[in-house]
Amino acid sequence: MTQPLLLCCDLDRTLIPNGVQTLSDGAMDALHRVAARPEVTLAFVTGRSRALVERAILKWRLPVPDIVAGDVGTSIYDVGPDHLWREWQSWAEAIAPDWNDRTHADLAAALDGLDPLTRQAEEGQARFKLSYTAPADADAETLVRAIRERLAPLDVAEEVTWSVDETVPIGLVDILPRSATKQGAVECIRRERGFSPERTVFAGDSGNDLPVLAGPLRAILVANATDAVRAEARRLAAANGKTGDLYLATGGWRGMNGCYAAGVLEGLAHFYPEVEGWLD
Ligand SMILES: [Mg+2]
Repeated sequence: MTQPLLLCCDLDRTLIPNGVQTLSDGAMDALHRVAARPEVTLAFVTGRSRALVERAILKWRLPVPDIVAGDVGTSIYDVGPDHLWREWQSWAEAIAPDWNDRTHADLAAALDGLDPLTRQAEEGQARFKLSYTAPADADAETLVRAIRERLAPLDVAEEVTWSVDETVPIGLVDILPRSATKQGAVECIRRERGFSPERTVFAGDSGNDLPVLAGPLRAILVANATDAVRAEARRLAAANGKTGDLYLATGGWRGMNGCYAAGVLEGLAHFYPEVEGWLD
């Protein structure tokens, strides 16, 4: 067996083909074969709650992951073949100090009435995640600054992420503890489970994936990402001095289009040539 490999994947429009492009034939089957390899640990890193991840696994026939970092990395669970979800209490304890003993309701009250935010439904909220929508063409920089100003009196350490769901289109705003986020969760999983940085890879498609895509670990941007995200990922990666460790899927690998699971596999084969052998 080759060395252990930690594959961390965003879900919507990365593993879940719920964008405007189509999923290439065979891509999801190939992903299942990769996920079933004994050396591969599959982690989902997603904005979805546990309930919405469980729904997506069934609806989209996703492989059952070993680990789920849900609610934009603010909750981490072991899953595994028994489908019993066990939350990592140590992670909740590690990120809680950022909220400075403030509750979700305290933060929500501070943001009440802030134009143009609209609070997302309850299933989009979590203990350490406040989620809103805004028009896709909103001035994200101004909006993020206004959110920070409203939260300043609470003395919390927050991270505000902005993404656009191009399929609607709509802007998505998440407010998270600064030490959580997808980046923090991926790093926590990697360290806790003893994967080396070279054997850890993250795949994503959109705004809240950018810190991980442009961060120190190997990363894959699927081909269905928008040109704006592709440009920003390139720019941030260059600014971080990350040269060879961001792979932009283009399509063409094994006759597939590089979107969703096909892009994840294309990037995986780029970083880890043994993947080709797993699929032959
Ligand atoms: Mg996504």
